[in-house]
Amino acid sequence: MYSRRDALAMETDHTGIDTSERHKYSEPKHLGNLNFDNTYSRLPEIFFQEIAPKPVSNPKLVRLNTNLAKELGMDPSTVETRDLDILAGNAAPLESKQIAMVYAGHQFGNWVPRLGDGRAVLLGEVIDTSGARRDIQLKGSGPTLFSRMGDGRASVGPVIREYLVSEGMAALQIPTTRSLAIVTTGELIARERMEPGAILTRVASSHIRVGTFQYFYGQRDDEAIRLLADYSINRHYPNAGENSNPYVEFLRSVVEKTAELISSWMLVGFIHGVMNTDNSSIAGETIDYGPCAFMDAFDANKVFSSIDTGGRYAYNQQPAIGLWNLSRFAETLLGIIDSDKEQATAKAREVLETYWQTFEEHFHFGLCQKIGLEHNEENLSLAFQLLDFMSETKADFTNTFRNLPKLITAPEAFNAETDNKLKLSDKFSDWSAKWTAKIAGEVKSVDEALGNMNKINPLFIPRNHQIQRVIDFAIEAEDYEPLEQIFSAVTNPFGENPQLKHLSEPPKPEEEIKQTFCGT
Ligand code: AMP
Ligand code: MG
Repeated sequence: MYSRRDALAMETDHTGIDTSERHKYSEPKHLGNLNFDNTYSRLPEIFFQEIAPKPVSNPKLVRLNTNLAKELGMDPSTVETRDLDILAGNAAPLESKQIAMVYAGHQFGNWVPRLGDGRAVLLGEVIDTSGARRDIQLKGSGPTLFSRMGDGRASVGPVIREYLVSEGMAALQIPTTRSLAIVTTGELIARERMEPGAILTRVASSHIRVGTFQYFYGQRDDEAIRLLADYSINRHYPNAGENSNPYVEFLRSVVEKTAELISSWMLVGFIHGVMNTDNSSIAGETIDYGPCAFMDAFDANKVFSSIDTGGRYAYNQQPAIGLWNLSRFAETLLGIIDSDKEQATAKAREVLETYWQTFEEHFHFGLCQKIGLEHNEENLSLAFQLLDFMSETKADFTNTFRNLPKLITAPEAFNAETDNKLKLSDKFSDWSAKWTAKIAGEVKSVDEALGNMNKINPLFIPRNHQIQRVIDFAIEAEDYEPLEQIFSAVTNPFGENPQLKHLSEPPKPEEEIKQTFCGT
């Protein structure tokens, strides 16, 4: 079938290193007790470049996610002594075939026919303690065929950001790639200034993106698209495989997962910042934390990313962009959905049309849940009114919801902790009276309803100004203590923790971070 020799593997990367040589760099050894499988790298060679990470001079483990390590079946106590070489890219796990995956994508709407892992290497897949198959990837591990002008490295700042935000998202129960470890490389890399290099070990259900399908669509290679679709169905959506048209069902599953994912971002004030199709996961996980941020003051048009000058990925644009990305995905499947083009388009369109309904169901249900009420039109409009007041008064998104129960249980604490402008507005006092009456009249147990609100409205989110502080300490003083503190707050986002209370506070005006950067 794929008898043609892989065009990718024949090339050399821009460092001039022959890829076959690069593959011999690392000594093979076991990573913890993990057994690697390599189903993705058993696909034809056109799906990847086989390549090892480029070794680094002086690796140091600065953070291991012990709970995640245990989930994967590793013994966290031996990671630093046994496994550091692997997490640094200086050794290869036994049984692993290391690859950089190829993909394409629309970046800010512009078509790029080939992107690919330009600074990441997939070590392979492991089966975790619950039986789930998970990718393990090193990000920042050196150049590959897909690096273009980049150095293949990551600086410690963006690595810390991804680590904290992805683990915060996981604790909020939002589907996401995970972060297992941060290793600093001992090497400086050139960004706006010279910065310490670092490698993030990323764990994901898979790294298959809309852009992975688009790469083969760009090549008009329906045979590869079918293989990739079959692979993805088998790995992520086995039920779709039992349907009479598995590819339509596959599309339906991805549409549903993506709609749910984006609604869950909206409910916590998360802005991804760079929802290009290559950063859109087929498994429906949040992936590629670049210039992302949680909002402090609520502003529906909020943009953080310095490069998003047109606001394409603003907070309130995310649902529509989700559908745009899915439409690009659907396009790639047309040739395998039906040999009749019109039929294929009609079938795909019917599925895409379910997007808004799924999104709204989840978003509206979630909004009502955030104010402790059941989902109906009246409660929904109450929730939207609150968002309006928050927007007018620039109230803090997270803390406004978190503090609502105090309107009933401890009005003084509510007044002390909530944004002045919000609580002083006449409209808000009317709203508050209406909401309090509804809680008293509509829920079975007030205590239970308020308690449930505290299980979905977080106290701690990875706030931008705090992440920046962690990064500054890491870069300027090699001090990782602030990282530990924020990690423990954002991975227990719903529990009261008096010692960490300061981490729930929004930035003072002078601390506010107005822009985030890709840092690549
Ligand atoms: P991102 O903005 O992180 O989603 O990356 C977009 C594309 O640029 C992907 O193909 C990355 O692999 C590539 N890329 C980003 N940073 C670098 C880097 N420092 N070196 C090489 N490739 C990079
Ligand atoms: Mg990306």
